Amino acid sequence: MNKYGIIGLIILIAIVIGGVAYYMSIQQTKTVVSTTTTTFTSTSPVASTTTTTSGLTPVEIEAIKYMAEEEKLALDVYSKLAEIYPNVPVFANIAKSETTHVKAVLNLAEKYGIPINLGAPGQFNNTHIQELYNQLIKEGSKGLEEALKVGALIEETDIKDLQDWVAKVQYEDIKQVFECLMMGSRNHLRAFVSTLEKMFNTTYTPQVISQQEYEQIINSPMETGPNNICSSLGIDLGTNVTVTPKGGSTK
Ligand SMILES: [Zn+2]
Repeated sequence: MNKYGIIGLIILIAIVIGGVAYYMSIQQTKTVVSTTTTTFTSTSPVASTTTTTSGLTPVEIEAIKYMAEEEKLALDVYSKLAEIYPNVPVFANIAKSETTHVKAVLNLAEKYGIPINLGAPGQFNNTHIQELYNQLIKEGSKGLEEALKVGALIEETDIKDLQDWVAKVQYEDIKQVFECLMMGSRNHLRAFVSTLEKMFNTTYTPQVISQQEYEQIINSPMETGPNNICSSLGIDLGTNVTVTPKGGSTK
């Protein structure tokens, strides 16, 4: 073999080696891609198993999910009404209290690994709560007296729903949070009703709870909670809500 033959052979070997290397790299890429795909598809069921709860019944999970949105309903409605009626501090004050109520329910959700994604203000996952929000905002926009009645109605609804959930829930810590929220709602109801009386001389008629239960709440003083359990849970009971309007404006 002459000089040119040897060079030719070297080039040929280089081409063959290069080809083989290229082929192998393609195969390797394919393997990587297919592995990634397999890994990706198998992660979704794994991810959902890690977010399922330990020990809670479906009713308890539903209770936490529902109450998170119902407390958010109160927060969002009062925040909106506070914008519409800025001279009446009762809405902004109670909205502040509701922020702690939403947080308390979200803390329960986190503790038990229940995934909850609350929507933007005025946005709800539960269609019933969404309809309620739309209706309450429409009603509350008509005037201050209507807005205060909307407040009382929300608190009545809260009390009734919390009572129903407490009866179905087994876990003591969930019950405790719900009892504190209920106490907060009774205080808020007292605040809305007394504002209605002071400003409009209106006697509110309960629509959700019984007249007897309503009177029992209205005729008893603001509740501060037993041994500060509620405050240790971060729940504001709304006891220091200012009911007197600034400058008496009724807009
Ligand atoms: Zn509340």
